[in-house]
Amino acid sequence: MSVLVVGSVALDSIETPFGSAKSALGGSATYISAAASYFTAPIRLVGVVGGDFPKSGIEFLEARGVDLEGLEIIKSGRTFHWSGKYHYDLNNRDTLATDLNVFEKFDPKIPEKYKKSSYVCLGNIDPVLQRRVLEQIERPRLVICDTMNFWIEGKNAELRETLKAIDVVILNDSEARLLSKEPNLIKSARVIRGMGPKIVIIKKGEHGALLITEQTVFSAPAYPMENIFDPTGAGDTFAGGFVGWLGKTDDLSEENLKRAVIYGSAMASFCVEKFSVDGLADLTPLQIQDRFRAFRELSRFDED
Ligand code: AMP
Repeated sequence: MSVLVVGSVALDSIETPFGSAKSALGGSATYISAAASYFTAPIRLVGVVGGDFPKSGIEFLEARGVDLEGLEIIKSGRTFHWSGKYHYDLNNRDTLATDLNVFEKFDPKIPEKYKKSSYVCLGNIDPVLQRRVLEQIERPRLVICDTMNFWIEGKNAELRETLKAIDVVILNDSEARLLSKEPNLIKSARVIRGMGPKIVIIKKGEHGALLITEQTVFSAPAYPMENIFDPTGAGDTFAGGFVGWLGKTDDLSEENLKRAVIYGSAMASFCVEKFSVDGLADLTPLQIQDRFRAFRELSRFDED
C-alpha cells in the first residue's frame, strides 16, 4: 500500500556523550520514509530543502526507493537545521537551535499522483502545514500524526484543530502530559483521544511505548540496548516502522496495531545504534524479523 510522508528533511548537528556530527542527514520525513521503506512501497515524501542540501542526502533516500517527486528544492534557500545535545541520560536532550530556514515559507504541494495514498504519516512539522496536506488529498485509510513540545507550546490551538482530523497520534510521555495537562499517562491518553485521534501512542524513550485505544492498553518494551550512539530520529523511525507495517498488511485490527508498535520499536532500536540515518541504511529483512521476535521473548513468562 502507498504511504505519503510529510515532514522535515533536515541537516542536524548532534552532540552525544559518545561523539558528534555536524550537518548530518536528519529530519522527521527522512527517518519515517527510510524506516517505512523496509516494509512497503511506494513511499512518497513531501518536504523542502535548500540549495545546500547534499547530494548524498538525495542518494540515501533514492537508495531506499523513496519517491522524491514531492521534495521541493529551493536553490536560493537553506535547509532546515536542527541542533541538539544529549546528556548521559540519553532520554534528555537540549535543543540548541531550530533554524526553520526554507520551512518558514513552506507550503506543501502534493503531487497529483500522491493524492490517493492509502496511509498518511504527518511527521513533526507545523500543525498548520499538516492540516494543509490533509486538505489536498483524498481521505486515506489512516492518518498518523507525530508532534512535539515545540508545537504543543508554540501552536497549541492550531495543533488542536489538526488533531480533529487525525486517526493515530504519536507523541512522547512529556509531550502527552503537556498536551493533556494530565500527569497520568493513561488518563492523558483519554484526554487526547477526546481531542480527535482514536488511537494514541505514547513513547517513553528507553522504557518503551504505550498503545491506547478505546478497548486496549498495550505496553511494548524498548529493546534493551547496550550501545546507543545517537537517539535522534528514534521517534520518527518508530512512526515509520509503525506505518510501514500497516501499509504492508493493510490490517487495522487491534492485534495488528500491536504488531505495528513492535515493528516501530524494532526499527527505532536499529536507528539509535548509529549516528544520523546510518542505522537505517542497509538492514536485511532477516535482521528486522529477528529483532521483532526478540521483543516477544523480552516479556514472555510462564504462568507457573
Ligand atoms: P526525534 O528524535 O524522533 O524527535 O526526531 C529528531 C528529528 O526531528 C531531527 O532529525 C530533527 O531534524 C527533526 N526536528 C527537530 N525539531 C523539529 C521541528 N521543530 N520541526 C520539524 N522537525 C524537527
